[in-house]
Amino acid sequence: MKIGSHVSFSNTGLLNAAREAISYGATSFMVYTGAPQNTRRKPMEEQYVPEGLALMREHGIEEIVVHAPYIINLASPKRDTFRLAVEFLQAEIERTAYMGVRHIVVHPGAYTDKDLAYGIDRIVEGLNEVLSQDGDVLIALETMAGKGTEIGRTFEELARIIDKSAHNDRLRVCFDTCHAHDAGYDLINDFDGVMERFDRIIGLDRLAVLHINDSKHPRGARKDRHAPVGAGHIGFEAINRIVHHQVSQDKPIILETPWIGKDKNKQRPMYEAEIALLSGRARERFGDGFFQDAAAIDGLLKDKDIPDGRAYVLRTWNELQDKAKRAEDRREPMERIYDMVVEAKLFPGMDEERINHRIVGYLAGVHR
Ligand code: FE
Ligand code: FE
Ligand code: ZN
Repeated sequence: MKIGSHVSFSNTGLLNAAREAISYGATSFMVYTGAPQNTRRKPMEEQYVPEGLALMREHGIEEIVVHAPYIINLASPKRDTFRLAVEFLQAEIERTAYMGVRHIVVHPGAYTDKDLAYGIDRIVEGLNEVLSQDGDVLIALETMAGKGTEIGRTFEELARIIDKSAHNDRLRVCFDTCHAHDAGYDLINDFDGVMERFDRIIGLDRLAVLHINDSKHPRGARKDRHAPVGAGHIGFEAINRIVHHQVSQDKPIILETPWIGKDKNKQRPMYEAEIALLSGRARERFGDGFFQDAAAIDGLLKDKDIPDGRAYVLRTWNELQDKAKRAEDRREPMERIYDMVVEAKLFPGMDEERINHRIVGYLAGVHR
């Protein structure tokens, strides 16, 4: 399994990205070649690419993914925004090729004050120009949640872009679980059906990358708010089925889950626990104590009349939607469980990150 997370490319570029990924136990990862929100980029010669590739090779990391910054909007009706998108995407593809990476993930775009048909044609026009330069890099269009005027919420929208594009031999799709769930696809009860539909509309041969995120919102909410695996409406079981599904075989599986912690400046990712759990290596990585600790959390919550962690998570997210209840307590589900664990002095001396890893383990059901 090739599984990893989004990692930072700042400071020493590919070298620290690889180091960070390895620290989480990853076997793949994804980078932005600079800040995701802007287009300032250092020359690739200063990004420690040979050093990063050597470290990756040493640790058996064969395939990684690049993500284009979100300010790229190929659907924009504004001339300047559209030109920037085309030219920046071409430069990003060169940086991607420089690292020997095969896939760059791109958000299709948002049509703003025009309409869907306009947006799709504009994206096609942009992709035609971008791909008029020859190369091996493939563009993976991401499935989107459909918030605002975002294009790519349905497989049909992506298929229309692909079908109309002149160089569609170089177009692929990145399937984001949070986005597809928020878009309305039933990943929990019918992932097979969703993939059958993907195959019929787009073709499974186009599926190249998976983004694995839980969602803070119920199916069809069109919100796009990621949650740690197991701490959202999709749940660990459904996500675990997806990463082990036939269609995910040999594809890079990338976590983009939020960092957790009471102090905003000291938050930590849950990637290490998520990767270990989804790749079936939690015992190897964290030892038997991890499972006993998850059982202890289960016992504590049962004492507090919370017999089912998943039901508690869903109830809490729903309460956070309710304005009156939200005013009382804005803490997210994992933070509430963390506070209960600390208050009960369940793991004296254990730091916040390690406690949160155990809560992720509990929500994954490792104690059962
Ligand atoms: Fe994305
Ligand atoms: Fe994504
Ligand atoms: Zn998202």
